[in-house]
Amino acid sequence: GTAPVVVGRFAPSPSGPLHIGSLVTAVGSYCLARSQGGRWLVRMEDLDRPRVVAGAAEEILHTLEVLGFEWDGEVVWQSRRTAAYEEALDRLRSAGLVFDCACSRKEILASAPHVGEEGPVYPGTCRQGLEGGSQARAQRIRVPAGPLCFTDGVFGPVEQCLASVVGDFVLRRADGLFAYQLAVVVDDGAAGVTQIVRGADLLSSTPRQIFLQAALGLPLPRYLHLPLALAENGEKISKRHGPLPLAAEGGEILWRVLRFLGQPVPPELRSGCAAEVLAWGVGHFDAALIPSADRFLSGD
Ligand code: GLU
Repeated sequence: GTAPVVVGRFAPSPSGPLHIGSLVTAVGSYCLARSQGGRWLVRMEDLDRPRVVAGAAEEILHTLEVLGFEWDGEVVWQSRRTAAYEEALDRLRSAGLVFDCACSRKEILASAPHVGEEGPVYPGTCRQGLEGGSQARAQRIRVPAGPLCFTDGVFGPVEQCLASVVGDFVLRRADGLFAYQLAVVVDDGAAGVTQIVRGADLLSSTPRQIFLQAALGLPLPRYLHLPLALAENGEKISKRHGPLPLAAEGGEILWRVLRFLGQPVPPELRSGCAAEVLAWGVGHFDAALIPSADRFLSGD
């Protein structure tokens, strides 16, 4: 039979222009998918409207084009997918997994058993139903008590106990917006994504997403989390470090990103154009060479 088609994706949040940290994710997801003859999709995660910056989405797409990335199909915009999130939430509710929560952030902080790496662990206050008279704010999902395990393509075996690390988590926020955790699972499922390549800052979200996939009957994709790019001062590179210098320097930047991802891109390609460097990445990308430790992304 024919091998199943690989479907990768890049899912930037338009809260600012593309920075070199997010470019690492674009390059990694693109080269890995295309090197396997796979499809590569782009989704704009403009769900969190208060954080969306006007014009940032268009700027990100333009930067991708200038650097020679080609995506399959239309860009998916999360802001237009509310009906799909609604439907998924209804299904989880019908399965008895969703409950209304009346707690404010302040109340959760005051009664949380502890504040973990993912913030305060929800103490389960509204799990058995709301007290008379209290107003529902957010909607949460009941998490299982036992550990959740998966194998990451870069980080290896990962185990997390949702109950002790995050607790019952939010699917729909008090302001009515759907949570990233739900949207990402619904969107990747609908698009048939088989391979998720993204920054290691999302490694600890993955168990929540795998739990939601299973609850919605969606297949488990392959996960590869990439090391985070550090700026000279040791901070994780983010939007604060400014947009990418482009055009003429595009090839050099892509060369540095491939090196950062452990790929032996030849030194002479450093002065190549963006299209040449990206083509080398597609032709040679080897996920087994990706390092897991956060590292500097600098001159050499
Ligand atoms: N939109 C998220 C970000 O830019 C990425 C989500 C994902 O890849 O699952 O950090």
